Amino acid sequence: MTLTAEPQVAVATHCPYCALQCGMSLSGTAVAPREFPTNGGGLCQKGWTSGSLLTTPARLTTPLIRVDGDLVPASWDDALDLVARRITEVQREHGRDGVAVFGGGGLTNEKSYLLGKFARVALRTSQVDYNGRFCMSSAAAAGNKAFGLDRGLPFPLTDVGDADAVLLIGANPAETMPPFMQHLRKAIDAGGLVVVDPRRTPTAEQARLHLAPAPGTDLALALGILHALVADGLFDRSYVDKRTRGFEAVWQIAARWWPERVERITGVAADDQRRVARLLAGARNAYVLTARGTEQHASGSDTVSAWINLALALGLPGRAGSGYGCLTGQGNGQGGREHGQKADQLPGYRRIDDPGAREHVARVWGVDPAELPGPGRSAYELLDALGTPAGPKAMLAFGSNVVVSAPRSAHVAERLRSLDLLVVADFVLSETAAMADVVLPVMQWAEESGTMTNLEGRILLRRKALDPPGEVRSDLAVLAGLAQRLGQPAERFPVHAETVFTELREASRGGLADYSGITYDRLREGEALYWPVPGPGHAGTPRMFLDSFAHADGRARFAPVDHRGPAEPVDDEYPLIATTGRVLQQYQSGAQTRLVAELNAVVGEAFVEVHPDTAARNGLAHGGWARVVSRRGETTARVRCVPSMRPDTVFLPFHFPGAQRANLLTNPALDPASRMPEFKVCAVRLTTEDGGA
Ligand code: SF4
Repeated sequence: MTLTAEPQVAVATHCPYCALQCGMSLSGTAVAPREFPTNGGGLCQKGWTSGSLLTTPARLTTPLIRVDGDLVPASWDDALDLVARRITEVQREHGRDGVAVFGGGGLTNEKSYLLGKFARVALRTSQVDYNGRFCMSSAAAAGNKAFGLDRGLPFPLTDVGDADAVLLIGANPAETMPPFMQHLRKAIDAGGLVVVDPRRTPTAEQARLHLAPAPGTDLALALGILHALVADGLFDRSYVDKRTRGFEAVWQIAARWWPERVERITGVAADDQRRVARLLAGARNAYVLTARGTEQHASGSDTVSAWINLALALGLPGRAGSGYGCLTGQGNGQGGREHGQKADQLPGYRRIDDPGAREHVARVWGVDPAELPGPGRSAYELLDALGTPAGPKAMLAFGSNVVVSAPRSAHVAERLRSLDLLVVADFVLSETAAMADVVLPVMQWAEESGTMTNLEGRILLRRKALDPPGEVRSDLAVLAGLAQRLGQPAERFPVHAETVFTELREASRGGLADYSGITYDRLREGEALYWPVPGPGHAGTPRMFLDSFAHADGRARFAPVDHRGPAEPVDDEYPLIATTGRVLQQYQSGAQTRLVAELNAVVGEAFVEVHPDTAARNGLAHGGWARVVSRRGETTARVRCVPSMRPDTVFLPFHFPGAQRANLLTNPALDPASRMPEFKVCAVRLTTEDGGA
């Protein structure tokens, strides 16, 4: 590896992992924390050890092509020529939609943008989606419905630091993003932190009130708290009258969900529901924050709507010092959903079925709007269709490891195997890359510049600090190389990130996520720019909705939603509920963090958390191995007996590969609005490793 910067000169950058995008300095490969508002100078163990990824021996340094069953090194020209030729053949035989593209929420804004453009312009396929569909899509659907716009946190994270009450639902930041916890300090000290989570997590340990509903019953819990709030006359009538619409229809539903009835469904005491209502209503500044635990359900978007309804009844959204927000997970989970790698979107958070949006974006791209494809399949539906008679026969995956991260993962692997062509661009041989016909080695994090949009909607510049090893190329160069081989003019697919960003600005101009006023120079100067930034002189929008919401009449919308429970209830054969999540030391599919020795030494294998009585009933002992079996498959995991677990629920982290994949179990039942799979609830049984119960 060659250092482009003087080794002793620290490059100001951001962590490669989660959406907190903690500030860090990189000197060579040495990481040091850097003062930045989201992390306040802190880093978690993943961030501290991230420099080792830059020298991992597992790094891919040359393209690989499958020959006689084995992946063998190839030149870039041979690899790209082969991919372009096979794409052309597949499309000739099966039509434009015969080729699919799958992106990722960790890609920079520039890559997300160019990937969507590549799919729509170079391939002219509608079959493009990304793994963010598995991450934040339910919150996005609910946010768009309520506010007319979806920005994870519509306020700077530091605002939360002044709150005396925070309702945190389905989030465990003490493990997933530890520096976040400093922003909850005041609420914790004031006795105002309430955590909703079926597990007693390290975050729940710090809460005044921990509500542990049965997985899949959060929506009922939100209705119960709303009922208590309204029945006790604690809701903000003036705010509801002036700033919202639709309260009456919501109350007609919530009126039927008195807390004692909700207690019978959720297991959360009616008194606790009333205490939460009083605590939030009595707070001077309060926030309602949701995350994957409450969002990754087949009723995820309705569940988030129910929490937003509660926030609206409290008068929080759009009030300075209070609000509702979703905690985005992946590094560029926010930007990744704005620039057009989603099946139904064009850049600027525009809808692909909106004629005005198509015209605007087509003009920026220099194509006829009629040539742009329409909406395609959502992520799981796309994976499920691969290789089927009506589905794509080839797929290009960028920054995504679906063999580990998609639900019903054995089936997804089978679909991938059925393809005529699988191409994966990654910087290590992920489990998905290992199945590919062609693997393209691409740059990581500190090896190129690019922008990310963090969980607050703030755009950050990640600076290049090192040259990549071997023959590694940027994803942008890969897309450009393929586009040219598919007949596109070179200038239509630039390889320089700043040039791509300049075009992205134009494509986003006038859209909901308007980046047109952002430049690399402004970011280099350290300006804190939160979208929308609709012009060069615009200072950005750190706090949204203070005067009006993004609907035409300026008012937020209550959504009439009702409890309907998990898609797959437990029964005699599968009597336990499995829920999945993350641990501190691993990130997403683990393709990166499993390469870091310090992290793997702490948690390097799958485990299943289970109540000791449940373990004993199933013949399992702490420290032994269990088989966890669902209707879709089975996985093996080390037993951890945890007395605070609900006896009806087991928990598995989803970072581990092969036979330890938690997603071998999960249910791909989809939310009707967001197409989010039900990662957080499936029915399972436990057996000993040899199969005896
Ligand atoms: Fe910060 Fe997230 Fe990186 Fe940890 S993983 S250092 S919380 S950005």
